[in-house]
Amino acid sequence: MGIGEVTLPPLYERPPRPLAMARWLVTKFFWWQHLLWIVVGVAAWTWLTPSLDRFAAPAPWAVALVYARNVGLMIVIVGGLHWWLYMRRSQGTQHKYDERWLSVGRRPFLFRHQTRDNVFWSLVSACSIAALYESLMLWLYANDLIWTIPARSNLPYAVVLTFAMFPLASLHFYAIHRLLHTPHLYRMAHSLHHHNVNIGPWSGVSMHPVEHLLYLSVPLMFLLIPGNPYLVTLTATYLLLSAAPSHSGFDRYVIAGGRTVAGGDRFHTLHHRHFDCNYGTSLVPMDKWFGTWHDGSDEATEQVKERRRRLAAR
Ligand SMILES: [Zn+2]
Ligand SMILES: [Zn+2]
Repeated sequence: MGIGEVTLPPLYERPPRPLAMARWLVTKFFWWQHLLWIVVGVAAWTWLTPSLDRFAAPAPWAVALVYARNVGLMIVIVGGLHWWLYMRRSQGTQHKYDERWLSVGRRPFLFRHQTRDNVFWSLVSACSIAALYESLMLWLYANDLIWTIPARSNLPYAVVLTFAMFPLASLHFYAIHRLLHTPHLYRMAHSLHHHNVNIGPWSGVSMHPVEHLLYLSVPLMFLLIPGNPYLVTLTATYLLLSAAPSHSGFDRYVIAGGRTVAGGDRFHTLHHRHFDCNYGTSLVPMDKWFGTWHDGSDEATEQVKERRRRLAAR
C-alpha cells in the first residue's frame, strides 16, 4: 500500500469545531499511544527508577540502573513490536507502507544488517545518553538546585504538564530536526538515521550520538519550567519509546478478531521517503505554517522535488 493521506488535526480547523476537537483528542491522541506512554512513564518513575535521594551525590551505579531500565523497556516494547510485526510477521504485509522487509546483507548498515545496526545505536547510544540527561536532572532535583513542584502535593499541575510535554517535545523536535538537516550536521550525524528509508520499530531512535544529544535533551526544559522528577522520567521514556510505533512501517496493527488499532505515523514515514518535508509532527503543524507540509499526495511529492531542484540550481 501507499502511505496514504495526512490530515491536519481538527485542533487547527477554522472555524473551530469543539466536538470534533474533543473526539480527536480522546480517540486519536490519547487512545492508545499517548495513554501508554503516560502509563509507562508513571510505572518507570514509581517502580523502575532508583529513589531520588540516591542521586544526591554523583552515583555511577544509579546512572547504570537508569541505563539498564532504558534497555529493559526498549527490549520489551520496541523488541516486542519488532518481534510481532517483523519476526513473527503476524499480519504479513497487511497495512504495511512498503512491500519490502528490512535490509539484510547491505551497506551502509553496521554489520550489513538494518535491524542489528538499529538495535546497536538504540541500546548503546540512545539508552546511555538518555540515562545521563535524566540522572543529571535527578541530581539537580535531589540537591534542590532547581525549582520543584512535587506531583503529590500539586496533582493538577503535574497532570497539565504531563499533557503539555507532548506538544513541547514536538516543537523541540521540529527545531532540532531542521538544524540536523543543515548540510554539515546532516553529513556528520543525521544521515545515519536516514539510512533507514524503509523503516522498522528499531529505526526510531537509531541515530548518531550527536543527534541523540539534541533529540534526547527535552528533559532539560525542566530547568526553565518548574517540574518534578516524575516529569523528567516520563519525558525520557517517551522520547525513547514513542519512536517505535511511529517508525514501525505499518499504518495499523491487526489485533484480536481482525480488528485494527492505529499504528505508524504517516507524517514521519513521508519524511523518511521524501526527505525535504515533514520535519516536525502533525500535533504541532510547524510544517504547515512554514511550507514543508507533505499530505501524502502526488502533488506534494512534486512540490518537494521542485523545491530540491530550486535548491540545487542555486
Ligand atoms: Zn530528517
Ligand atoms: Zn525518523
